Amino acid sequence: MIIHLKEGIDDNIVLALAEQNECLYYKKNNQYIFINSSSVKQLPQALESYTESFKVLSSDIQLASKEYQAEKREIRVGEEIIFGGNSNNTIVITGPCSVESEEQLDISAQNCVKNGVKIIRAGCYKPRTSPYSFQGLGKEGLILLDGVRKKYGLKVITEVRDATHVEDVIEYADIIQIGAKAMYDQGILRACSEIRKPVLLKRGFGSTLQEFVQAAEFILSGGNEQVILCERGIRTFETKTRFTFDLCGVAYLKQYTNLPVVLDPSHAMGYAYGVADLARASVAMGVDGLLIETHPTPKIAKSDAAQQLDFNQFNEMYQSLEPIAKAVGKNLI
Ligand code: PEP
Ligand code: MN
Repeated sequence: MIIHLKEGIDDNIVLALAEQNECLYYKKNNQYIFINSSSVKQLPQALESYTESFKVLSSDIQLASKEYQAEKREIRVGEEIIFGGNSNNTIVITGPCSVESEEQLDISAQNCVKNGVKIIRAGCYKPRTSPYSFQGLGKEGLILLDGVRKKYGLKVITEVRDATHVEDVIEYADIIQIGAKAMYDQGILRACSEIRKPVLLKRGFGSTLQEFVQAAEFILSGGNEQVILCERGIRTFETKTRFTFDLCGVAYLKQYTNLPVVLDPSHAMGYAYGVADLARASVAMGVDGLLIETHPTPKIAKSDAAQQLDFNQFNEMYQSLEPIAKAVGKNLI
């Protein structure tokens, strides 16, 4: 249940009411919003006189549901970049899987600028499946990202791997990426719920849509309303491709949630050869953004080498997206 309290209630009373009634809460403008389990179907009596309105939801997909808020949420990155809302934007995000060196990042940033891409993405804390693989440059990488942001006026998205460096990533990133493996990390989710910066939450590859959107609810219920969902492929019985790109799931998210949706065909496919086709299919679905991994020399990339596009492949693909975006009423940015 989501309960909108009347304005002007004393903060101490609000705190006591939330505790007594087992509600999470946050303040929006001058109004407190309480959220408790969707299994509660009747307004608690103690809240009656404080309540302006309330809504009973059918599952714990609550704040993210169209049932609660029909309009898609608008998420601003700086002044001009808008995901969702009424923008009709499909925003392309690209960059290497990992920040590897100043030079590699600088050339990648130049390719963003050349194509008019406004957001660069690269990881500094990599959630690798082997401890012997490249783990990322850490803070040094964040500083390099800050450098290209200043030099080229790009916005930066980078990933938080675990709660140990969450503060650093929050400080340096314009959009904080929570990776597939971290989707359940409560430390990260709770830290991101307390800030007021956009968060791109990737779907865990073994997670149902219900679990995925409930992870978003952890962030939303702390009052950070700026959550973007990212489908990046799920694990199925198929082994020829790295993951299975769940476009049916994307249709579900568009239909039932009010959160912008970004698609990541690079991690889903796992091989460069399929990425352009999947990117075109993604844009045809009218989604809010696209995340594509690119590298100046994919063959020598320190992570996800097989799936990264070189700049020629990316630029050619990017050109082909324009007419598709137009056909579905979207502005490709
Ligand atoms: C990444 O974005 O480079 C990454 C590690 O992705 P995912 O969390 O989707 O595996
Ligand atoms: Mn990657």
